[in-house]
Amino acid sequence: MKTMTCQDLGGPCDLAHSGESADEIIKAQDQHLKERVNAGDDAHAPARDDMKGRWRHPMKSMSWYNGVRKRFAALPER
Ligand SMILES: [Zn+2]
Repeated sequence: MKTMTCQDLGGPCDLAHSGESADEIIKAQDQHLKERVNAGDDAHAPARDDMKGRWRHPMKSMSWYNGVRKRFAALPER
């Protein structure tokens, strides 16, 4: 299990996501961004838009994914 924060993934807060893979953490962040924006939290709106853009343009976003995967791989197990 490893942990990355909302901030590590381009968001504005330091909420921590735990997961067994980078994909799991990206999914948790996606869910978190949706929830915050739906709750009226404008601070999370730009990060939410970035994430939406990544789903729409997966090829363009490969470097972002690879960066997250690399950072995830470098983290210590908890
Ligand atoms: Zn957040």
